[in-house]
Amino acid sequence: MPVTILNFINGELVPSRGPRTAPVYNPATGEQSATLGLATMEDVRSATEAARKAFPAWANTPPLRRARILNRFLRIMEDRIDELAQVITAEHGKVLSDAKGEIQRGMEVVEFATGAPQLLKGEISENVGTRVDSHSLRQPLGVVAGITPFNFPAMVPMWMFPVALACGNTFILKPSERDPSASLMLARWLKEAGLPDGVFNVVHGDKEAVDAILTDPDVVAVSFVGSTPIARYIYETATSHGKRCQALGGAKNHMIVMPDADMDQAVDALMGAAYGSAGERCMAISVAVPIGDTTADHLIEKLAPKVRALNIGPGTDPDAEMGPLVTKQHLDKVRGYIDAGVDEGAKLIVDGRDFHRQGYEKGYFIGGSLFDRVTTDMKIYREEIFGPVLVVARAKSYDDAADMINQHEFGNGTAIFTRDGDAAREFAHQIQVGMVGINVPIPVPMAFHSFGGWKASLFGDHHMHGPEGVRFYTKLKTITTRWPTGIRAGAEFVMPTMS
Ligand code: NAD
Repeated sequence: MPVTILNFINGELVPSRGPRTAPVYNPATGEQSATLGLATMEDVRSATEAARKAFPAWANTPPLRRARILNRFLRIMEDRIDELAQVITAEHGKVLSDAKGEIQRGMEVVEFATGAPQLLKGEISENVGTRVDSHSLRQPLGVVAGITPFNFPAMVPMWMFPVALACGNTFILKPSERDPSASLMLARWLKEAGLPDGVFNVVHGDKEAVDAILTDPDVVAVSFVGSTPIARYIYETATSHGKRCQALGGAKNHMIVMPDADMDQAVDALMGAAYGSAGERCMAISVAVPIGDTTADHLIEKLAPKVRALNIGPGTDPDAEMGPLVTKQHLDKVRGYIDAGVDEGAKLIVDGRDFHRQGYEKGYFIGGSLFDRVTTDMKIYREEIFGPVLVVARAKSYDDAADMINQHEFGNGTAIFTRDGDAAREFAHQIQVGMVGINVPIPVPMAFHSFGGWKASLFGDHHMHGPEGVRFYTKLKTITTRWPTGIRAGAEFVMPTMS
């Protein structure tokens, strides 16, 4: 009998009140591992109430004390990273080393957030007028919410809540219904670290829970990461309800391979960036753009045998480089894209559709696929596949490649492999993409910088974590001070000026 996964509200595990549930599967075996109670509007309401009541005391807790709780949380995570990685692998399917990698990247945001006292320091100007001083400071917003995707069940929530909590906000997390257990482990550890009840809450659910968050008058800001159509919907709905919103969407990340690139390095980079985590990464490289036919032929010649040799297996197999896809529906969708590519006339160099792993016949496995001669009008070029499918779109020149990237709907990440400093500099300067790598295939910014794409990859004004995260989760106040000295200037009816 699969276990039932509960919400975490006001420091307690509580069942959803409604009758609706969703199954959670182990993607390697295809077996149902848990049943998720889907939160109703009332469940969300009790979470936002708890967060609203917890807010004044948490906002008034000195930032250093808040930081110390996050520090204890960090130490708990360090001690139990294996436990969390196993939970992620069991529900997401990614290999254990990759699960640990995502936890590590999330922990770096916690490390950043423990600098809260420094991060929240304001600015002061003395003598903005005669004996008049001015200072500005940042204050927390209130109850904020995070709605997160399946592909990073620990890291993406940790892009959000450590910074939000450090800044003095209380938080509602609505994780993906496909791999919900990691969020509860994080909630338990935050409580163990000393976080007061109600400051961090988890509600599980689907559109009903999300809509309840988006329309709840107590929620003042929403962070979202997921696919572009939902990101657009979240941004429009949240902002039309008067909330601050940052909504990160999908991606189609290109990597240009210049004729002067170190081809072995470029091929290794592409293997990890295209097939790591079975391509279920928003920063995965899904389009390789070699410049000129000679570069393209050379690239394909080196890439194809490596794609065929990928070691694919359950995430618990220490030799596996890539695990299964997250669900049966997603497996069917990725297969559908490969079929579409063939129908559209792209050249399928490596076909992963028939992959089977003995003993795991019911798992959602697919092999790595590689397409050549892909053109910009094809569906497999335009749309995000989110699977282990790399398409090679040949370009005649650097300018053609850069145009291709700049005209694409998405602008999350991109990379160039070259030894030419001029080309690299030009690329970094003029490419219309939020995160750029020079000989770095997955340029995910560190926690003390901010993460976010451009164009249809981000709706809103702020990127996540780093300095932008602090700005998103705080509002600015500026205070102007004069201490009367006994001199009366009399009433002034004009706009105060320095003259
Ligand atoms: P998704 O958009 O299906 O779901 C994301 C969240 O939205 C989940 O919590 C889900 O429950 C909720 N949701 C789904 N449908 C909804 C609806 N109709 N109304 C309201 N809420 C809804 O995304 P996913 O499949 O879980 O994740 C993969 C996507 O996330 C990919 O497109 C990937 O590129 C993107 N992603 C982007 C980034 C980034 O930084 N830009 C990072 C990770 C993932």
